[in-house]
Amino acid sequence: MHIFFEVMDYKSLRKILENKFEEAKITETADIDWIMVEILGVSRSMLPFSKISKEQEKQILSLAEMRLSHIPLAYIFGKASFYGRDFKVNKNVLIPRMDTEILVEAVINEIKKRKMEQSVLDIGTGSAIIPITISLETGSRCTAVDVSEAALRVALVNVHDYAANVELLHSNLFENLNGRRFDFIVSNPPYIESDIIESLESEVKDYEPILALDGGSDGLDFYRKIIADAKSHLNENGMIFFEIGYNQKNSVSKLLEDDFCEIKCLKDYGGNDRVVFAKLRKL
Ligand code: GLN
Repeated sequence: MHIFFEVMDYKSLRKILENKFEEAKITETADIDWIMVEILGVSRSMLPFSKISKEQEKQILSLAEMRLSHIPLAYIFGKASFYGRDFKVNKNVLIPRMDTEILVEAVINEIKKRKMEQSVLDIGTGSAIIPITISLETGSRCTAVDVSEAALRVALVNVHDYAANVELLHSNLFENLNGRRFDFIVSNPPYIESDIIESLESEVKDYEPILALDGGSDGLDFYRKIIADAKSHLNENGMIFFEIGYNQKNSVSKLLEDDFCEIKCLKDYGGNDRVVFAKLRKL
């Protein structure tokens, strides 16, 4: 006896979903492909040759429905990719951004220049993409703090998945560090001006944690707080590395000037200022 399954092809289903995305004003139609890749278990280039069963179609439609209500894909899948690795994420942590790779790379380069392991502190670690990547790429031990216990639970899963040499601590900035010192301090703090948040796209303002985004009225609150205490938590020759907003290079550099020298800035993949780093001044 033959059993016939009704099958839909990739092109027809994609067309249907493209129209729905257009209606919902979601321009990232590539997300349709990523949903299909996830459900069909094939690579993106194989999608046009894939047959889709009724059951798979149902699953694809249900994930697409979530995306159509503006939930970011990373939260739908519970994972996101950063520096070539997958990390678990949920609504309690910021979704990794490609631009943060520039920050991580700056730290990795400096560690490699010194030709020995450095102790690294990551402030506001979220899903812990920063310390895990630094530790796996350089062998250095990292300490990572976050004020959010919910974020630290996600971080713990990721640290465990990669068996990374990362110590996680619940701490509001330096509060629970008992004066410990590190060679490098790194942070991708919340840096969006409070008033701007309402104007961000729904995917960000309605789903990503406000705690990870809001940098106070001028967006600089966390740079001020971190820089004020950085000196007493850095070893001699210590360095500090920040991700910054596209328009914050001058203000963050200014905040650094008293205690730090050799202030440098790096641009992101879109050509915007994205990373500022500097060396602790000698006494
Ligand atoms: N450190 C995490 C990241 O870079 C979280 C940053 C944040 O929540 N502001 O993704």
